[in-house]
Amino acid sequence: MDVEVTRSPRRRKTVEARMIDGVMHLAIPASMTAAEESHWIDVMRRRLERQGPASPPDIAKRAAALSRRLGLPMPRSIRWSDRQKTLWGSCTPRTGAIRLASSVAAFPAWVVDYVIVHELAHLVEPRHDTAFWELVSRYSLSERARGYLIAKGEGAPGGDQPGCDEDPGQDQEAPRRKSTARDQDAPAATAPRVE
Ligand SMILES: [Zn+2]
Repeated sequence: MDVEVTRSPRRRKTVEARMIDGVMHLAIPASMTAAEESHWIDVMRRRLERQGPASPPDIAKRAAALSRRLGLPMPRSIRWSDRQKTLWGSCTPRTGAIRLASSVAAFPAWVVDYVIVHELAHLVEPRHDTAFWELVSRYSLSERARGYLIAKGEGAPGGDQPGCDEDPGQDQEAPRRKSTARDQDAPAATAPRVE
């Protein structure tokens, strides 16, 4: 996590941290020593990482803003799904419907935004091909968010949870198969999702 520290002569004792686009902005009193500063960076980072957002983000609103900003299509519908255990997000290009796993709500906003952007890009390019990743890269924190999701997936029970719907061809009810989506030459794993 990147950190930006602002020292304010007006601050006496209070330390305040806010997340803005994946960067922790920490405001501290100007009188703090370097040791105190690094102590508070640690404390606030852990606190923010534990907290997550207070209420689930309004993904319809975020999707609309992201599609406008990045020139991607609007989804016909976007909703949270509790049924989604193996994917962070999935979409049905044919109907323009996007679903995000409820567990994603606890992630930082910039990661939620990445999952949305990933699915919006699937409305244009169902496969994980070069054109798809070019669309995704319009969101500047894509690479960092992918790393975040991969780390989360590895820490989860089962271990091989794919980051986002790395396999849009996989049906929820179909027998689980190993995700090969990061291998872009695997046609079976990149077939458009059919429901
Ligand atoms: Zn995908």
